[in-house]
Amino acid sequence: MARLLEGKPVAERIKEEIKAEVAALSRKPVLASIIVGQNPGAQSYVKSQKKAAEALGIEYTLHELAEGMAEQELCDFIGTLNADKNVNGIIIQMPLPPHIDYKKASGFILPGKDAEGMHPANIGNMLFGKARIVPCTPAAVMELLKESAIDLNGKDTVIVGHSEIVGKPLALLLLDKFATVSVCHIGTSRAGKLQEHVSRAEVLIVAVGKAGLIKGEWVREGAVVIDVGINRVGDKIVGDVEFETAQARASCITPVPGGVGPLTVTMLMRNLLEAAKLQR
Ligand code: NAD
Repeated sequence: MARLLEGKPVAERIKEEIKAEVAALSRKPVLASIIVGQNPGAQSYVKSQKKAAEALGIEYTLHELAEGMAEQELCDFIGTLNADKNVNGIIIQMPLPPHIDYKKASGFILPGKDAEGMHPANIGNMLFGKARIVPCTPAAVMELLKESAIDLNGKDTVIVGHSEIVGKPLALLLLDKFATVSVCHIGTSRAGKLQEHVSRAEVLIVAVGKAGLIKGEWVREGAVVIDVGINRVGDKIVGDVEFETAQARASCITPVPGGVGPLTVTMLMRNLLEAAKLQR
């Protein structure tokens, strides 16, 4: 039976480290959060980010902007936050209204203030193995892998899902640890090859958003399984991997909820601290 890789204790440990470093700064770091319009999903992210920030001694300033604002107005607003020496990091809440292009707007954030680690310059630094600000979910996965105590060097590592926020950046971080990385996606499934790849994974990371996509019996004996997926099934939240059958075969597995999720907001705060240190 696999050991559970729970995110909360790892998050608590990292939060203690962040808190101590924040306390040693000469000035309280500030995370500026931009929300455009009144989306309930975005409002709930804001609530949990604010709570996490304040518990660590980080100031969280929320900028609520009008739904109908033009894309250029948002970019100009970001420009004022970029120029404000009191602001250490910036995050744009999703979703944005359909007339605003997230990539365009977030590209205006100075790379040194990019709390989410998604600016092209930060992604580029990751390619060169030099990133100090890293996308939050891939960073959370790397922390859980550290917790599993697996040595990634040369391990057959299979990622299912090749999104810009999870699968692609994660592949770069894993390559830096000398894992042998395969990235599967919808094309792999269409070609009927998903099971074949999943079954040889010593480390399996799944980020798709389809409940039960990965059958428990596909999981290799002794594999480390990280399930990033979040799916609502009836009144329950489940991942992308069939949990019980996978747990019977794996050596370590993340629960959903309670695995990757609790760590991602902590990674956002770690990025903010890193940004503040870079700006000193
Ligand atoms: P996305 O929709 O951007 O990407 C989905 C990926 O899955 C794509 O690469 C696509 O090709 C692949 N895919 C789709 N159907 C497939 C199939 N049948 N077989 C193989 N691959 C398939 O999704 P995303 O934003 O990366 O999110 C993925 C999941 O992770 C979602 O459930 C999301 O809620 C969750 N998520 C969780 C966290 C967290 O903090 N825990 C953070 C981000 C995303």
